[in-house]
Amino acid sequence: MRTTFKGLMAAAALTVLGAPALAQDSASPLLGDLKQHVAAAHQAAGKDFGWAADMLCLNAEYGGDVIGEFYAGKRMSDIDGDFEPVQVFDGVYYVGLREIGVYAIKTSAGVVLIDSLLPGQAETLLIPHLKKVGIDPAQVKYVIVTHGHVDHMGGASYFQDHYKAKVAMTGQDWDFIEKAPAAEPGAQPKRDQVVKDGDKITVGDRTFTILFTPGHTPGSLSVLMDVKDHGVAHKALLFGGAGWGLAAMPMPMRPIYANSLNHLETEAAANHVDVALEGHPFLSNSLLRIAQLRNRKEGAPNPLVIGEDGYKRYISVFKECHAASTDRYQMLAAKYGTDPKKWPGQFVE
Ligand SMILES: [Zn+2]
Repeated sequence: MRTTFKGLMAAAALTVLGAPALAQDSASPLLGDLKQHVAAAHQAAGKDFGWAADMLCLNAEYGGDVIGEFYAGKRMSDIDGDFEPVQVFDGVYYVGLREIGVYAIKTSAGVVLIDSLLPGQAETLLIPHLKKVGIDPAQVKYVIVTHGHVDHMGGASYFQDHYKAKVAMTGQDWDFIEKAPAAEPGAQPKRDQVVKDGDKITVGDRTFTILFTPGHTPGSLSVLMDVKDHGVAHKALLFGGAGWGLAAMPMPMRPIYANSLNHLETEAAANHVDVALEGHPFLSNSLLRIAQLRNRKEGAPNPLVIGEDGYKRYISVFKECHAASTDRYQMLAAKYGTDPKKWPGQFVE
């Protein structure tokens, strides 16, 4: 997902004009189902994921992606802005921005990055962030790219070209970026390691398990990994293809994305996942949890440890809001046709 602050504000203006009329679409038989999913999302969210339920369900409730975009923009005055990097677990650092997540993980054989920001941002933001947490960029041996959108893969070619880092992505997303090359120069890494569901990438003393979670793109992946907090073991799952799109996710991708959410739920339960990492950390407000780690008192809990029940509820919010969003998508398609660009109040880049 890629947004700009200017885009958000333009979207916000549209929202105000477009949403109320759409929300009154009471004739559709899907509306009852939609409302049930929204209620279920809020039920699952409880107090800790209320923000996520708003962020993910508002597009379905009001009929425009713009709502979620506006919500994000209102919350953060500078959405593309810099964000002070911080250690989140032992040897694991958040080195991304407010909008776009990047994690740097130290291993006994170099550093692994998960995602890599926009083209050009390796030099301007990512490397300065790595240096701030004491990582020499030449130590980056691997970049795992969650999906082939420029805000996640844009810096990968820099590490490939300068430090011979390996770049891993699914075959579906290597194909995806080769079929529709990004316009920005240097935006795409050269085809390198192809990974699939269940593959393990071992670098030194760390192993990363790949989960195939398409929908947001044809080959989005998620990453399961062991982390430690002051020596205490936890299991983290980074959902790499999350989205809140209404118009942005076409109908054929919707059941695929729903399957991916089920896959994440099953794997999270089987592996006792208790930490949610995000490619866009404002989606569930994990950005605030990450920020809290800067002032963590000795002995205080790590706010990113949400527990197994927390992870289950986190995924439930995604599932229910996606179901609601799909209802709304069908309602809009029935009323205005299948091209979302022709729907009123949409924000389609
Ligand atoms: Zn994306």
